[in-house]
Amino acid sequence: SQKLLQVNNLTTSFRTADGLLPAVRDVSFHVNKGETLCIVGESGCGKSITSLSMMQLLPNNGEISQGEILFNGQDLTKLSQVEMRQIRGNDISMIFQEPMTALNPVFNVGFQLREPLRIHKKMSKKQAHNQGIKLLNQVGIPSPEKRMHQYPHELSGGMRQRVMIAIALACSPQLLIADEPTTALDVTIQSQILDLIDDLKKEFNMGVVLITHDMGVVAEVADRVMVMYAGEKIEEADAYSIFNHPQHPYTKGLLKSVPNVDDKEHNLEPIPGQLPSLKDRSDACPFVDRCEFAMEKCAIHSPPTFNPGVDHSVRCWLQEEDEYERNNSANIET
Ligand code: SF4
Ligand code: MG
Repeated sequence: SQKLLQVNNLTTSFRTADGLLPAVRDVSFHVNKGETLCIVGESGCGKSITSLSMMQLLPNNGEISQGEILFNGQDLTKLSQVEMRQIRGNDISMIFQEPMTALNPVFNVGFQLREPLRIHKKMSKKQAHNQGIKLLNQVGIPSPEKRMHQYPHELSGGMRQRVMIAIALACSPQLLIADEPTTALDVTIQSQILDLIDDLKKEFNMGVVLITHDMGVVAEVADRVMVMYAGEKIEEADAYSIFNHPQHPYTKGLLKSVPNVDDKEHNLEPIPGQLPSLKDRSDACPFVDRCEFAMEKCAIHSPPTFNPGVDHSVRCWLQEEDEYERNNSANIET
């Protein structure tokens, strides 16, 4: 599989009354063609800021203060607004949780589907119209010809979401960034939308970054998983390893809070405590206040990255002893 996106040491900060506060700290990851990377973590962990950084759509007081975002080898942080506009909606598309904010209420569906095709693909109005109908079909919208003439407020939530996906896919992007795309929808529609993204990923060999707080969603679609906490990447692995051999105490906590579909009576087990605020950050492990395994050194030094398996990384001091044992047994064998 080929690397589509490579993010190296991304730090994104916000200028505030308290000074420059990093919302994302030194985060690295990659996305291959034809795979879904899920970025998971609770609200405020920096996952949306990571995606807005990739799209160069940060609010005015936000800035990328360090790192590079390589898309097909080209560093997006070095591009001008004009150059970035060429890439957005064409090579990289994004879908959001709330389609009403992404769709324009004043224009009908047809117009909003034709626009990106006319701008990026230089299609005629007629060509773009036909392509729009094809796209609506592809995302499972019945009687697409009729829908082309409707306005966003005339559609149900699930239909709006599908229209937004159709627009995002209009120019066959190489990378789709989906930020909590199904959170507002009921379970059946949620499942349909996730299936749809998965089908399109396979059909077009598209890379997908799916941002969610929901481990159930992760279980359904992820090839790889990156877990974020307080603006940092704390664990990353293939989906199988995350669900079967999670290493970080926070990841384990997230998995415990997944409602078991076979066991509806079982209570959720949320992780007690709150994310540390951006401005109270010290050199401690960011999870120290909520971690039941916290040791003295956790409060003094942030843990380095350990590799408990191939392509499995985790930042937790508990790994230190395991790694020592791994290295020692390797020494004995040689
Ligand atoms: Fe818990 Fe320490 Fe690991 Fe942080 S480094 S997650 S405080 S054990
Ligand atoms: Mg968010």
